[in-house]
Amino acid sequence: MNPWEQALKQLEQVKAYVEIPETIYRRLAEPQNLIKGELEVGGKKYPAWRSQHNDARGPYKGGIRFHPKVSEDEVKALSMWMTFKCATVDIPYGGAKGGVAVEPRQLSKAELEALSRAYARLVTPVIGEKRDIPAPDVNTDGQIMAWMLDEYEKAVGYKAPGTFTGKPIALGGSLGREEATGQGGVQILKALLTQFKVPVATTTVAVQGFGNVGYWFARLAEAAGFKVVAVFDSKGGIVSEDLTGLEIEAVMTHKQKVGKVVGYKGAKDLASEELWSLPVTVVVPAALEGVIDKEVAEKLQAKYVVEMANGPVTPAADTVLKERGIVSVPDVLANAGGVTVSYFEWVQNLQGQAWDLEVVQAQLKRHMEEAFSGVWREWERLEGGQVNPATLKVGMRVPTYTIAVKRVVEAMMLRGNSR
Ligand code: NAD
Repeated sequence: MNPWEQALKQLEQVKAYVEIPETIYRRLAEPQNLIKGELEVGGKKYPAWRSQHNDARGPYKGGIRFHPKVSEDEVKALSMWMTFKCATVDIPYGGAKGGVAVEPRQLSKAELEALSRAYARLVTPVIGEKRDIPAPDVNTDGQIMAWMLDEYEKAVGYKAPGTFTGKPIALGGSLGREEATGQGGVQILKALLTQFKVPVATTTVAVQGFGNVGYWFARLAEAAGFKVVAVFDSKGGIVSEDLTGLEIEAVMTHKQKVGKVVGYKGAKDLASEELWSLPVTVVVPAALEGVIDKEVAEKLQAKYVVEMANGPVTPAADTVLKERGIVSVPDVLANAGGVTVSYFEWVQNLQGQAWDLEVVQAQLKRHMEEAFSGVWREWERLEGGQVNPATLKVGMRVPTYTIAVKRVVEAMMLRGNSR
């Protein structure tokens, strides 16, 4: 199942819980706009897309991914997930996503800049602070946002920093944005374990992905008192002896030196696939989609999954997890901290303000906790009482989507037929 089929299946499953008029459903089952192009850099051509899924609740919002496996269907799926993510945390945005099929590590810095600027030129006619607001995603960062913003502002002829989020602080970025996705995820995990009365100190965590999201999740989970015992990147993983917990900062220093987590002293090296059979309490996929399929779900030893990547759990795996009493916190809730602080960045840009870190963090905490309690109440309602992992009627994606889809459908109906 490709990511778009996965996204459509998830939408279809909500039909049993939310009344969605057929015309609205059909509109949700396609992006409103799909922009395609080819970017030419260094004599090579790279396919590029921007999918604008839905803007009923506000301007389109979503990151830009540079990765060789980017495809039209992946970008479309990610844009739908953005629509429901922004609705889950109740921020006034729709959903979009962009991508370029490229291996950025094979480009020189000058070529990477040229590619970023070419992408910005492709989407300039359809983006803007009140229209569609891109941000970083896999293999894109603040520097790339800076090049894109510069190219966009040159084309339109005025400053519009709110057109991109995830910018460097010097260009109007927000304090607290870099770590926001990981921070929000740790807050959600803490809220979940509080509900299930599971103590933090004995909770062991394994993280897949050691980029922006995985690293910050691991580091902030360690700071919150969890035992982060294993981390993986694209080249393999490491697990601490006797599951005592890794020192995440030291693992990052090692990775910066040698380019991978494997080889870190004081830990055992593991092959990528060994992640799923580790005897840990929580696994955190924070890399790419589709990694927890039916087969992985059947052998998973963890009791909880926190979906920090977008779309890491396939619909077939979802069913297996529920049947096995494993709770999977859906991506649109778990990783929504990033877009929430992107929203704060945009608010600051539109008002010409810069908030203190404490303000950003307090607001993020409030948004994540409110979103979590809303989902929890809905889950209890659907379960007809207490949520008991051993006897679940539905997984956690259902209450989350129920809330999100209802909000989007309401906005679409209020707007009438045109959008
Ligand atoms: P990133 O490029 O910073 O990091 C990706 C990491 O995944 C790298 O460490 C890479 O080595 C690792 N990886 C790649 N393939 C792997 C594999 N097969 N096995 C193990 N590790 C692998 O990207 P990111 O920004 O951290 O994004 C990660 C995920 O989180 C994506 O699904 C993204 O859409 C999602 N996400 C990101 C943000 C954000 O704010 N950056 C927000 C919400 C969701």
